[in-house]
Amino acid sequence: MKKVLITGAAGFLGSHLCDRFIKEGFYVIAMDNLITGNIKNIEHLFPLKEFEFHHHDVTKFVHLPGKLDYILHFASPASPIDYLKIPIETLKVGSLGTLNLLGLAKEKKSRILVASTSEVYGDPLVHPQNEEYYGNVSPIGPRGVYDEAKRFMESITMAYHRFHGVDTRIVRIFNTYGSRMRLNDGRVVPAFMGQALRGEDLTVFGDGSQTRSFCYIDDQVEGIYRLLMSDYTNPVNIGNPHETTILEFAQEIIMLTGTEQKIVFKPLPKDDPLQRQPDIAKAKEILGWEPKVGRAEGLKIVFDYFKSLSPEELQKKKHRDFSGTV
Ligand code: UDP
Repeated sequence: MKKVLITGAAGFLGSHLCDRFIKEGFYVIAMDNLITGNIKNIEHLFPLKEFEFHHHDVTKFVHLPGKLDYILHFASPASPIDYLKIPIETLKVGSLGTLNLLGLAKEKKSRILVASTSEVYGDPLVHPQNEEYYGNVSPIGPRGVYDEAKRFMESITMAYHRFHGVDTRIVRIFNTYGSRMRLNDGRVVPAFMGQALRGEDLTVFGDGSQTRSFCYIDDQVEGIYRLLMSDYTNPVNIGNPHETTILEFAQEIIMLTGTEQKIVFKPLPKDDPLQRQPDIAKAKEILGWEPKVGRAEGLKIVFDYFKSLSPEELQKKKHRDFSGTV
């Protein structure tokens, strides 16, 4: 049985990856310090004999006995509200955490895939963003702690690959949505859906002309899985190129949820990228991958998920409203 270590396993992406690798017949070692992850996301896997959980912070030395075939490094805060609350932890997990896991991969001769992000492109001057673009990032802005940690992650991963011959993969993940996102993490999908469900107005930051391109979780997991199994060692964008402005997106959520609330405008947070759309030519060519789930279909599934939460969980909101404050 192949063994895989998944860090950030109790998070949104990590928990869906645990499900996928269990389904594929792997032995899954899940690791999380639960700083932003939620154990409930993986509770259903605890009874399985091919699953184990380690409550551990990967910025500290990571040791596991026995062989290890694959490592997926997905531990990191991943929403702007989190970077503001825990900036040092964000920097540490991307740098020290990645260093520890690369060391483990070298020791165990494991293949390692690290979770990078479209944020390495910053507020992009090239549109859509392809993997050759170097990005436009402020190292000292509020997002710098995440963006630079992930850029360092890519850099040290390539160094381990070139210098130590470690078998590495780098995925650049664009905006992704699905069940198990935290209602209060401030990201726009749970923010708008939570507001609709609580009967609050939808808060659009800026004039809503900034764009994003949203990928459904199952498509994202499929892309990551294919990249891990491929031979390709340079970064690959995985995301859905279907772009929308945030204002149109708010209108779409109003239609979908049937809420009678209106849209209210709040100041745009500092360094909020004005546009973001993945160029997925590489993923298509190398992995034979492209997204299958359209936004209307995916958003409906996610809305049904949020609707199924208890009223207490829904009220536990309180979504970020740090627009204009940073
Ligand atoms: N956004 C918004 N209202 C909210 C939350 C977010 O208008 O209540 C905007 C935000 O300013 C950004 C976009 O939605 O332009 C996506 O934000 P998110 O935090 O989901 O992801 P990121 O900015 O990292 O792409």
